[in-house]
Amino acid sequence: MATPLTLPGICWPLQASTGHLAMTTQHITGHFRAGAGLDAIVLCDVQPAGKFRNGAARHWCRTHQCYWGTRADVDGLQATRQLRCRQHASPMGYVLYPELFDTSQFHAITVRQAATGLLQLRARADAGGALLSRDVPALAIDCRTLPGLFHPDIVQLNITPPAAHAFAAALQAGVPLGCSDCARCGHPHLDLGDFALAPHRRHTCGHCGHDATHSPGAIVSTPLWRLREYARRAPARIAQCF
Ligand SMILES: [Zn+2]
Ligand SMILES: [Zn+2]
Ligand SMILES: [Zn+2]
Repeated sequence: MATPLTLPGICWPLQASTGHLAMTTQHITGHFRAGAGLDAIVLCDVQPAGKFRNGAARHWCRTHQCYWGTRADVDGLQATRQLRCRQHASPMGYVLYPELFDTSQFHAITVRQAATGLLQLRARADAGGALLSRDVPALAIDCRTLPGLFHPDIVQLNITPPAAHAFAAALQAGVPLGCSDCARCGHPHLDLGDFALAPHRRHTCGHCGHDATHSPGAIVSTPLWRLREYARRAPARIAQCF
């Protein structure tokens, strides 16, 4: 296979019950056929994540949102000499060179998911008042100009199609929402799929794989909720966040 490329980008698993939106880097590494699509092969990003119940060492793949360390995984490592998770060959959604949106440079910002499924971003530039208008599958919010909102090592918050869809559906269904930070790494937790409509207390971290963070009450957790709460406190800047 060709050498993988490392580029500014956003990627997401097509099927997952957790997600990873809060990034410590703008780059992703993998094989991409175009500027955006649903067929990227992205390299695993595997971190130690405690132990399985039987005592075996456990790892977490941030890219594909699954644990590594079963007997089959260990056999695969011995055969290929590559530490990769069982989803390593699964196609992923992706956008290369995404819009990196700095909220501190704009006002009257609205972000919502249109009926087409695209994210609709509208904003007025503080300097000159020009209208910024983007209709994109995914975009990134620059967190370096939002100090205190998320863990300080987070540079950008990706708004992926599954995260946008889950948040819009949870808001419409009226389920209790919140944003639970991981007790181990401090990154915000994202529920997807069935978990995005069924409030629960125990959350598995998409960043480090820690699976014993309990929120005070049963919630559906998403970092987009915290962004929405921020918007409520600064309505002149962000007029609407979903
Ligand atoms: Zn993986
Ligand atoms: Zn959860
Ligand atoms: Zn964590």
